[in-house]
Amino acid sequence: MAQSRPLLLLAGALVLVVAADAARRSAARQTAPPPPVEQRATALPARAPARASPAADAERRSEVMAHLAVEGADTYLPAMVAADSLLRRWPDARVTHPLRVATIRAAVPGYQEEFAGNVNWSITRWNGVLPMQLEPWTDSATADILVTWTERLDSNRTGRTDLTWDNLGWIHRAVVVLATHMPDGRAMNGPEMTAVALHELGHAIGLDHSPDSADALYPRTRAIELSERDRRTAQLLYRLPPGTLR
Ligand SMILES: [Zn+2]
Repeated sequence: MAQSRPLLLLAGALVLVVAADAARRSAARQTAPPPPVEQRATALPARAPARASPAADAERRSEVMAHLAVEGADTYLPAMVAADSLLRRWPDARVTHPLRVATIRAAVPGYQEEFAGNVNWSITRWNGVLPMQLEPWTDSATADILVTWTERLDSNRTGRTDLTWDNLGWIHRAVVVLATHMPDGRAMNGPEMTAVALHELGHAIGLDHSPDSADALYPRTRAIELSERDRRTAQLLYRLPPGTLR
């Protein structure tokens, strides 16, 4: 599960880039081009706790699939499972210990002071959705979720989230990298940064992509607010035991 796998692009701000690309390609074919591919790097397991017994593991998988069948219809969790067969999330114990989100104001070309505020806005949108809180934090060494910036990312994207989780599916740490510029060199503005931060924080809590363009976890989202489906999906994820469903 440490492999990189192709996912659709995360960054809503790339719509303009994609549109321009589409215009160039339209002479060759009339169909819209596929969105750029996002490789969401993932880390090796943080540690290897003992696995549950085969019987208990089978019971867990059965329980999860039953919940998905009943409650998954208005969420994109079934799409996540179909794509990955793995549920990852933060441990239930974090209900009493907020997830600490440290935002590093790095000296990166194109960084604007409002970007930290855009991240804080995104944190507030996810708060109240999960059973645990996300809390702005100043110490990067003890943060659970680290948010930093770079001037530009590769692979035609403007955000990336790297997760560290164990083989039971519990997330231990997340690192979010946000680009101050689009791949074409244009500077990101505040609303675009908000949309990318909202999307990447969704990855940081364990969500994968939604196929619906109204959702913040849509690969090319421009949403600066969560949809009801975003909320329902996150809430269902946090009612289920994590782990592989294979
Ligand atoms: Zn994404």
